[in-house]
Amino acid sequence: MSVPQPRLTLSDQPSQVRHVVIISEDGMRPDLIYGQQNMVWHEQLYRNGSFSWKARTIRTASTLPSHASMLSGVDVDQHGLTWNTWLKTRGFIRVPTIFQAAEENGLKTAAFVGKPKLRHIMPAGTVGIFARPGYYCKKVSDEAARYIEREKPELLFVHFSDPDEAGHSDGWMTASYRKAALASDACLGTIYRALQQANMIDETLVIVSADHGGHARGHTGAIPSDREIPWIASGPGVRRGYHIRSAVSTMDTAATALAALGLAPLTRISGRPVSEIFQSSTRTGL
Ligand SMILES: [Zn+2]
Repeated sequence: MSVPQPRLTLSDQPSQVRHVVIISEDGMRPDLIYGQQNMVWHEQLYRNGSFSWKARTIRTASTLPSHASMLSGVDVDQHGLTWNTWLKTRGFIRVPTIFQAAEENGLKTAAFVGKPKLRHIMPAGTVGIFARPGYYCKKVSDEAARYIEREKPELLFVHFSDPDEAGHSDGWMTASYRKAALASDACLGTIYRALQQANMIDETLVIVSADHGGHARGHTGAIPSDREIPWIASGPGVRRGYHIRSAVSTMDTAATALAALGLAPLTRISGRPVSEIFQSSTRTGL
C-alpha cells in the first residue's frame, strides 16, 4: 500500500522556472498592445499570462535611466545613470544588476540590444554576453534567437528599438508608429519561437515590458502617457489571462526575475516581486 504524500503548498513547491527572458520594447505604449489587431504574439502572451496596462517607469522616463532601473531594481538616485547617451567617460552603473546576481550563482546570462548606450548598465564582467547586432529589432531578435537555441541562457535581456524610433520621427500613435509596433510584435514572435525550438518554453518566465511610453514626438515623463508601460508575464505557474491588480513599477521587473530564479538581490533594492502573478496553492488545488 502506498503511503499518502503530504500535499504541497506553494512555498514548498520547487520552482519550475529555470530561465527568465526579459524583452523590452523601447517606447511601446500599453494601448498599442491591448485591443489592437494583429499584435498576435503579444496577444498570445497576455492571454496565456498576467498583465498590467498601467505599469510605470521611473520619473526619468528615458531609455538609459529607465532600463537601468528595470535591470537593477533601484531608481536613478541609486544607480546613477542620469544621462541618455553612450558617454564612455561617464563610467557605469553604480549598483549590481540582476545579471551580476545570476552570474555570481553560476547562471548563464546575455543581453542583445539595439542601442549601444545600454552598455552603461552592463560593464564587461557583469554579464556573460553583451551584443548589439543592429539598431532594428529584426537583427537583434534573429541573433538573440540563434543564441537561445545554441546556449539556452538562464537569464536573457532583449531590447527592441523600433517603436521609439518611429515615435520620435513621426509621432507616437501615428501610422508609422503602429507599423513599428507590428515589427516589434514579429520580433517578439522570433524570440518566442526560438524558446519553443530550444524546448525552453515550459520552463521560461517571459516578461515583456518597455522603458517608457510617449506622446507627440517625445517622452519627458511628466504625463501618464510617457510613464505608463506594458507589463506582461507568462510562464510556468503564472496565472493565465489575469489582470494584475497591484501597482507595478519597472523596478519590480528586476525583483520578479530574481525571485523566479530563486536568487536574492546583491544589495537592497526598491523593486518587489509581482507575486500575485503566480498561482496560489488554493487556486491550483494543490
Ligand atoms: Zn526615445
